[in-house]
Amino acid sequence: LIGQKAQKEGYKAYAIGGFVRDLLLGVENLDIDIVVEENAISFAEKLVKYIGGNLKTYPNFGTATLTLKDGSKIDFATARMEFYPFPAALPEVEETTIKHDLYRRDFTINTLGFKLNSPVFGDFLDFFNGKKDLEDGIIRVLYNLSFVEDPTRILRAIRFEARYGFKIEEQTLAFMENAINNNMLEQVKVSRMADELKLMLVEKTGLASFKRAMDLGIIDKIFGEIEDKKGLLKGMEISNNLLAMCKDKGIPIDEPFLIYLRTILAYCSEGVRNKFLKGMNLEKNNYDDLVYFLTEYQGILEKLIDPKFYSPSQLVSMLERFSNDSLIALTAISGSNLVKKRVFLYLEELSKISVEIKGEDLLELGLKPGPIFSEIIQNVKKEKLDGNIANKEEEILWVKS
Ligand code: ATP
Repeated sequence: LIGQKAQKEGYKAYAIGGFVRDLLLGVENLDIDIVVEENAISFAEKLVKYIGGNLKTYPNFGTATLTLKDGSKIDFATARMEFYPFPAALPEVEETTIKHDLYRRDFTINTLGFKLNSPVFGDFLDFFNGKKDLEDGIIRVLYNLSFVEDPTRILRAIRFEARYGFKIEEQTLAFMENAINNNMLEQVKVSRMADELKLMLVEKTGLASFKRAMDLGIIDKIFGEIEDKKGLLKGMEISNNLLAMCKDKGIPIDEPFLIYLRTILAYCSEGVRNKFLKGMNLEKNNYDDLVYFLTEYQGILEKLIDPKFYSPSQLVSMLERFSNDSLIALTAISGSNLVKKRVFLYLEELSKISVEIKGEDLLELGLKPGPIFSEIIQNVKKEKLDGNIANKEEEILWVKS
């Protein structure tokens, strides 16, 4: 349909990038990227009238996203023609623009495409031997300065490497190490770095990528020299296991990436923490929660690690000020089974215990409304947590007494 419309309206459209890569690998990828010559937005505007869906355009970037009724998404980008010193001879004139566009991409395996226009539908584009690299399982950049031009590609390379079980090609690895040693990662804006880190860490193979990034010195460059590398790695492994455990047990987690980030930041200097917190454009509630965690986690860990007995109500009063995400991160950082036992007792049981009587019940008992009401409810809760009250009837009896 897209190809027919492109042909009719005089555009050239190509399916490119991750969608084509995954199609050849036989991996599901519902995110379709289409590059259009000459103008993706005007083409997408015509197409939406034809096939329906919800279109968002981004004129500054020459891109548009079409969300179809079934929820699937198609991204449209205008083919960009920028000057690059091509090692190879220019192709036939008609393919110059798309070739230039594909040359700007990160790795050869992401430069594959096919034509969508109806008469030539399916004609395969492989200007940079991407198909061979895909078959051989190789991550390879297109030009020497690729990682210098965009250092986030360093994280992308190790993400794809782990995801597909590929290998970063030797020369590419050397370019990468060169960029790392020349402090290119420090040039990247925190928010961009965080976006790429998030993409990496939330993959199934995120932990393997993180280890690789540690070994290559990437984490030290992004977060400053980490002194306790073993401790951080262990914390990341435990975070990963605990996230799986929460999923199994149905314990709600807000943002897995921010659990990993809390764990990493706990091993960083104050300066790095502040740089990340300020630079990440976090939503206010996430920002506040992270700040709270970083200022309070050590104090609470000291108490939780202490084997002395805490009553359930004491545990609740210590833990209820933390979000679930923060509790998982602090359990991971502690590496302690006692902390894990206590936190999960809270998450699975104690946090679900609530008081059933309400203000109106207290009024019925003849009490006068005021601050005393919340004091009573608090005390009922404490008794209930500690197992002295089981149900609403007993709550009322306790208040009466
Ligand atoms: P995923 O399967 O993780 O979505 P993807 O390859 O589709 O992987 P996207 O981040 O959606 O990745 O990017 C779409 C395409 O844009 C990629 O295939 C790649 O060609 C290109 N691209 C993305 N980021 C960069 C970058 N930093 N440098 C160069 N090209 C990039």
